[in-house]
Amino acid sequence: VEAEIRTTLSPLYEVFDGIQGPAEKFIRSRVERLSGLWVKTGQRMRENTANQTSLQKRVLLYPGVLSGGAGQRFGTMVNRGGPLGELVQWADLSASLYILGHNVTFTISQRHLHSVIGAAPGRGSCPIQRPLTFDLIYTDYHGLAHLQGAMGLAFQHYQCRFRILDSFGTEPAFNLGTYAHKYGYKTLWGSWGLQPLQYMTMFPHTPDNSFLGFVSEEAQSPQEEREQEGQPRTSVKDNMAVVYGKQDYMWQGKESYLEVISRELETHGTVYQPAGQSARLPGEVINHGLLTQDQFLQLLRRAKVFVGLGFPFEGPAPLEAIASGCVFLQPRFQPPLSSENSPFYKGKPTTRLVSSQHPYAEEFIGKPFVWTVNMTNATDVQETVQAILRTEVKPFTPREFTCEGMLERVHAYITHQVRIVSHVKSFISLVLLCWASYASFPTWPPESALRVHLGPLGQSCGSVCRRAFLVCEPALFHHLNSPAAFSRLGLSCASMDQEVDNHLFPAYSPWGRRCGLQRERLLFSCAGSDPGQRRLCPCRAHQPGQVALCPECI
Ligand code: UDP
Repeated sequence: VEAEIRTTLSPLYEVFDGIQGPAEKFIRSRVERLSGLWVKTGQRMRENTANQTSLQKRVLLYPGVLSGGAGQRFGTMVNRGGPLGELVQWADLSASLYILGHNVTFTISQRHLHSVIGAAPGRGSCPIQRPLTFDLIYTDYHGLAHLQGAMGLAFQHYQCRFRILDSFGTEPAFNLGTYAHKYGYKTLWGSWGLQPLQYMTMFPHTPDNSFLGFVSEEAQSPQEEREQEGQPRTSVKDNMAVVYGKQDYMWQGKESYLEVISRELETHGTVYQPAGQSARLPGEVINHGLLTQDQFLQLLRRAKVFVGLGFPFEGPAPLEAIASGCVFLQPRFQPPLSSENSPFYKGKPTTRLVSSQHPYAEEFIGKPFVWTVNMTNATDVQETVQAILRTEVKPFTPREFTCEGMLERVHAYITHQVRIVSHVKSFISLVLLCWASYASFPTWPPESALRVHLGPLGQSCGSVCRRAFLVCEPALFHHLNSPAAFSRLGLSCASMDQEVDNHLFPAYSPWGRRCGLQRERLLFSCAGSDPGQRRLCPCRAHQPGQVALCPECI
């Protein structure tokens, strides 16, 4: 069956029926609230991409974080200022898959999971297993462990069908268990040995993973607003700042920073306060309490500045603020945070250096929308706020965070990162046909997209490509992994190292002119650098505002 773009989301609400916790309610109400936008965008896509079809996939969505006792604890935090970013992403993923015409099942119950994947519960280590009826299973790290328990041996056979929502990403060095163990990249997460592209992130972190993202509510163009209201757009903003931080502990120790801001702007907060109590906030702050998303966006529409306190890291709210015409003011981290020096990032399977509260906002959006300051320097903060108040900005959403951008990206992943395996009966041929197959190299994006760059010493391919206004494409590494690739770059190798595992290979070491070839394809890695290595980097161009897709490959 062909996947046909749908023009309603109503049947999807039934998929969520019967699931009644606060987290699921948040997901459902978000899908409903954005349904008009999804449908309109789907219709537009249908008109523009008449000949771009894909087969309908049977998709299971299983956010493991919401299941069982841990899920209940997560749920109770939803109305108390707990994290909502993951829920935003699950809502938008469900809506995308449904609008794109796929067959969507959603569950957060382990019992239901057992029944839909065909494992008979309670049979110990050898569950009875029917062939899996899903082409794709979207889950998270928690859910992966549940699936492993439920599927037994079949877990490995079907592993190419898993997609892991993993906000902060998993670098290849942490993903391959044996390597991680041997070279000290072992963390609480990681070590599942999946294809790194099966991990789907919230923002484009390392290109080794697939950037899934979410939808930041779109700012309406003046044209659209005029059409709706029959009058010219009035974008009058109050002289106010909204502070980013749903729980009062995030505000502690930030008093002098906030004081400088309050001198220039009326300062508002949306901080959870338990019944009968008030949040511990500086006296000048007007607190609205935790708001619904809708109310929160209304508040942002009135504000000039959205103020980051340094936590939470890398959430959706700054993009919503920028989409609502605010400027985002945020603290710089000097030195940058990493798993070495930050309790939050400790144990996360990434070597990333986090240079501010929201590196995506800083690097991909930047001025005039995003200003990054030294929070402890009152003069810097004051001058920046004054400069912001002299600057006029229009609502802005990067294309990759619009409905259209997300649909396009999810469609491309579903079409190109998956081989149809449902017609294959035997396990052996099934494994061979798997996307994660060890028998063949990826064919998307095509080799024509490849732009080879030889990095300087000490730079990762991620940054080598970015500096050339390109993006590292891990699916193209295999084209560079041969002696011929070294000679094409004018490198003459005194030795060709193929015996050592090293996630930086293919790479060239000028000392002794040693060339290293990658022998384990799961270790091809855009992330990673070494002062003694020049890396061979597979870069490619990307569409404007859509870093996940190359111009010529959809
Ligand atoms: N949000 C909300 N009510 C509020 C403040 C924020 O519903 O009072 C929403 C906001 O619209 C955003 C979501 O919370 O989509 C998650 O935002 P955040 O950036 O804080 O990320 P988190 O740390 O919660 O994952």
